[in-house]
Amino acid sequence: MTDFTWTRKQFHLPMGMIYLDGNSLGPMPKAAPARIDAMLRAEWGEQLITGWNASGWMAQPRSLGDRIARLIGAEKGHVVMGDTLSIKVYQALAAALQLRPDRRVILSDTGNFPSDLYMAQGLVKLLGDRAELRVVKPQDVADNITEDVAVTLLTEVDYRTGRMHDMAALTALAQNKGALTIWDLAHSAGAIPVDLAGAQADFAVGCTYKYLNGGPGAPAFIYVAPRHADVVDPALAGWLGHAKPFDFSRDYTPGAGVERMRVGTPPVVQMTLLETALDIWDRVDMADVRRQSIALCEDFIERVEAECPQLKLFSPRDATRRGSQVSFRAENGYAIMQALIADGVIGDFRAPDVMRFGFCPLYITHDDVEEAVSVLTRILRGALWDKPEFLQRKAVT
Ligand SMILES: *Cc1c(COP(=O)(O)O)cnc(C)c1O
Repeated sequence: MTDFTWTRKQFHLPMGMIYLDGNSLGPMPKAAPARIDAMLRAEWGEQLITGWNASGWMAQPRSLGDRIARLIGAEKGHVVMGDTLSIKVYQALAAALQLRPDRRVILSDTGNFPSDLYMAQGLVKLLGDRAELRVVKPQDVADNITEDVAVTLLTEVDYRTGRMHDMAALTALAQNKGALTIWDLAHSAGAIPVDLAGAQADFAVGCTYKYLNGGPGAPAFIYVAPRHADVVDPALAGWLGHAKPFDFSRDYTPGAGVERMRVGTPPVVQMTLLETALDIWDRVDMADVRRQSIALCEDFIERVEAECPQLKLFSPRDATRRGSQVSFRAENGYAIMQALIADGVIGDFRAPDVMRFGFCPLYITHDDVEEAVSVLTRILRGALWDKPEFLQRKAVT
């Protein structure tokens, strides 16, 4: 059993704040500042270049990848860290297209995060007639996996609605038609149990600054199924994905397995921050997270529907079809969210009118849910959101 009282104590949670935005940026582990201070002074400061060997910096992308593998049901040794999620999407797409040279369609859906679609658009532009991006409604994905599809590019949990795709079913369907699958786990890793090996997913990518609490700018991860790992030919052939980077040979030879998905120098300070978060995750069972996350989301939905009739549920009502976030639509949703934030209840807003609330059992309790809804109710009943400072849009929503 996961001890959520213990996990909550491991995070710095600002006084007076109820943080329902861990789906965008998780809170800081209390151990992080001291760990970074020690790393900077003892490792960078004293060891300088020798730190790559002495402190194992070069091995971090693989060792942290293994700790994340457990959380996403990946085989050990098949996840590697580095770069940002957008880059990892590009790498996975290029690799998948190479594995299906006789097919040209990338199938995605309108619920996907813009950066995933932009990366696909950029690759298609580069490849000319070789590739085509087809974007359909989320509910139409299954019917559109036709024999010309090379790869599906799907985000398992929709960033706006929280709607969850059926990874196992869609992967089986795609493979039946000879297509490959890329699963974006941005809103899955640390939010819901994922079983990449069980689903026989081909590729998966994700970020670590959302539910995994790795900090702003934390590195992304990529998974390549064992059956493809030694076959794919990396489009971003960086020196650290080379079989022997320190031979400095003129020609590229891909490294073993997922190692070849490394590109350049890893962000060591960010990896070290992520390590402090993974020290907490190592003591967490994703089945417990799921059970508690559903309980918190159900509690929130029931209270909001009872107290705030102006808000309309935008997420699936069925918990089994929903990730770990709840979205409501509201006229003036932006201003309502700003008023909530001013009162210490932090969610976020996605255009045109979606208010998003993330529930992370590692540090959110039923008391927080009750308090958040009581603040929301007060703001709505008194129209306290109807002030110039709340109506003015900021750069980051
Ligand atoms: C958060 C998110 C991203 C962000 O990509 P970065 O390169 O890390 O900025 C991409 N895709 C999805 C589905 C996301 O939710």
